[in-house]
Amino acid sequence: MWPMSAARIQANAVGAVNAFKVDVEDYFHVAALSSAIARDTWGAQEYRVERNTERLLHLLADRNIHGTFFVLGWVAERSAGLVRRIAAEGHEVACHGFSHQLIYRQTRQAFREETARAKALLEDAIAQPVLGYRAASFSIVRSSLWALDELIDLGFRYDSSIFAIRHDRYGIPDASPHPGVITAPSGRSLTEFPMAPASFLGLRLPVCGGGYFRIFPYGLTRAGLRRINELGRPFAFYLHPWEIDPDQPRVRVNALSRFRHYTNLDRCESRLRRLLGEFTFRPMREVLRSAGLMGEDPSPAAGRASADRLAHDARL
Ligand SMILES: [Zn+2]
Repeated sequence: MWPMSAARIQANAVGAVNAFKVDVEDYFHVAALSSAIARDTWGAQEYRVERNTERLLHLLADRNIHGTFFVLGWVAERSAGLVRRIAAEGHEVACHGFSHQLIYRQTRQAFREETARAKALLEDAIAQPVLGYRAASFSIVRSSLWALDELIDLGFRYDSSIFAIRHDRYGIPDASPHPGVITAPSGRSLTEFPMAPASFLGLRLPVCGGGYFRIFPYGLTRAGLRRINELGRPFAFYLHPWEIDPDQPRVRVNALSRFRHYTNLDRCESRLRRLLGEFTFRPMREVLRSAGLMGEDPSPAAGRASADRLAHDARL
């Protein structure tokens, strides 16, 4: 069934360097639960993101793995110490916006203001520039590509918000699934590390983390991720701190949202340990840098060359 030998697959899986990323938010920020938890009650919810993020930090430290933590501004405002600890342990701190609103439901001005606020909070906490951005629920879609121009204006060097998949809430199905340079509506460019489905057995499987990681059998995730590495590509794997917290308060929502949010929370941490032992991970900015997509001071011309080399479709 598999076209390559096990030994060859193993060699490729070990050789490829992938991006490990955490979206630092709490269970009550999640879009799937937003119908049941009003935004103005967030401050009154049980705050669990600090302890769950610390557990993830322990897990990564055990394996000596460093990743990228995209921290929600709302969390950074309350937990500057946590943001500093993430950076002090050698991880990259990046930005997950401020309010976890879907960008395509925001005005451009509201997006600009809250993203600037979130970036400033993070940079104040760690005293370093924040280079990466990740939208709530992958909400940079065709109708909100203007957000890329705002990210460029705010000084971000890369984005990781586009999911090359069809889904009810997000996705640009025909976007390139590979890291590359994307052209914003203004014609300027920004490095993009999209979420990619694995193509195998004639299917496109979203095996890159989150609910997909919890819902699919572990062996399927592993096979899909190995398939991406075997083709010489890195993948970005993402997880949320609440996904290793089976004791979080249960919220009454519809069956689909319940399925997406609560399935296999109790299995996620042990699966993550396996994954961390079976693939090689680095912070996203390092993976992009080694792909030639983010030098110390990249010129637009260098970015163009990388785009050509990686065959990224910039005509979104
Ligand atoms: Zn999020």
